Amino acid sequence: MSRIDSLPPLRAVIATHGIAAQKSLGQNFLLDLNLTAKIARMAGDLVGSDILEIGPGPGGLTRGLLAEGARRVLAVEKDPRCIPALEEIAAAYPGRLDVVLGDALDVDVAGRLTAPIRIAANLPYNIGTELLVRWLSPPTWPPFWDSLTLMFQREVAQRIVAKPGDNAYGRLALLVHWRTDARIVMDLPPEAFTPPPKVSSAVVHLTALPAPRYPADAAMLNRVVATAFNQRRKMLRSALKPLGPGIEDHLTAVGIPPTARAEEIGLEQFCALTRSLTPQI
Ligand code: SAM
Repeated sequence: MSRIDSLPPLRAVIATHGIAAQKSLGQNFLLDLNLTAKIARMAGDLVGSDILEIGPGPGGLTRGLLAEGARRVLAVEKDPRCIPALEEIAAAYPGRLDVVLGDALDVDVAGRLTAPIRIAANLPYNIGTELLVRWLSPPTWPPFWDSLTLMFQREVAQRIVAKPGDNAYGRLALLVHWRTDARIVMDLPPEAFTPPPKVSSAVVHLTALPAPRYPADAAMLNRVVATAFNQRRKMLRSALKPLGPGIEDHLTAVGIPPTARAEEIGLEQFCALTRSLTPQI
């Protein structure tokens, strides 16, 4: 029995169900239920929310989310060995946990959750950035979720919250800042996980803005930013040449010195440049 619920400790769950961690599935488990409950609290008001959890594994964060009052959790897990352990949790919280066996990159969650929806996950590192980019890039905004509370390698977390001039500043930071408020809410050393990964981790909390901070066409903005950071140390008048003729005039028209580099330019200026270029690219 643990301190947050009447279920067995996670080490016992792992032993009972034979869930030895597999590197290929990015399995670094959180076994301290007080820590998982703390991460669950970082996700905000759970009581009236449905939660999408990716990669519940043996269920440490799942139990934290349920103990903290989540209305309902939909948990998507790729490893069939974890399903019996998750079914025990579902039995302890009747009607509040649905488990889906599948790959989070393929499973369609639309229609399975009721707003307000929050996403919380200790993500498998190999698909974390891809999932984040997908959640940030739906065809319309606001998205189906209100907030994301996600574990990343610390280096990725720094790329998510980076500001102009930071070494980690680039496409990911701009995409995040355009449509969300994002901050690092917790740092975790490797020893917090079993087995410990090679690097430190951090939890990032992102809240969806009702509308993007500045107007711009999403696909165009992505193209401008990708082209600019493709050669991040070059002056923008050279780096942006692939976008067509007259790039210096567009830069000047929106107040960006053509000799500036991508890493010095903020979101507002990138959006202005995108609007200026939109009829042409
Ligand atoms: N949430 C658990 C915890 O905090 O202890 C486990 C986290 S572990 C870092 C990542 C989990 O994601 C593992 O359970 C792994 O099996 C699962 N996983 C890996 N790839 C996945 C995928 N493509 N779709 C869904 N789950 C996946």
